[in-house]
Amino acid sequence: TVGAVAIDLLGNIAVATSTGGIGGKLHGRIGDTPIIGCGTYCDNKFGGISSTGHGDILMRACLAHDVIKRMEYLNENIQIASQNASKNMLTDFKGTGGVVELDCKGNVSVFFTSQRMAWAYQEELSLHYGIKKNDHFEQNIDDY
Ligand code: ASP
Repeated sequence: TVGAVAIDLLGNIAVATSTGGIGGKLHGRIGDTPIIGCGTYCDNKFGGISSTGHGDILMRACLAHDVIKRMEYLNENIQIASQNASKNMLTDFKGTGGVVELDCKGNVSVFFTSQRMAWAYQEELSLHYGIKKNDHFEQNIDDY
C-alpha cells in the first residue's frame, strides 16, 4: 500500500491510498483502500488519515474514520487518536495495521501495530505551520 496525506496553505487536506491488495485475496475483492472511512479519510477541521494493513479488519474497524471521530468527539489529538483506534483494532478485531496522518495544523505522525511500516514526509509547509523536525512522531505497539 502507498498512502499520502497533504495539506495546502489554505488548510485543505487531501488523502490518497493505493494498494495491490493482499496475498490470497478473492477475485473481485475491493478491500479497504478505496472505501472512505476505512483506508482513507479526512476532514479539514481535524486531519487526514491513510491506513495500511489487513484490509478486511480495517473495514470492520473503520480505522481511518475512527481516528478522526476520536478527535472530534473525544477531543483526542491525532497521535492519541491513532494509537487508541489502532490498539482497539488489535484487541477487538485481532488485526494489525498502521496509519500515516497529519492534523489540521500540519502536525505529522505515524502509528502502527504491524512489525514495521515504511514512511516519509516532505516538509515544504513546515515553516508556515511552525513544525520542527522533533515534532514528528513515530511509535508502534512495541513501545508500550
Ligand atoms: N490494506 C490493503 C488490503 O487489505 C493491504 C495493505 O495495506 O498492504 O488490501
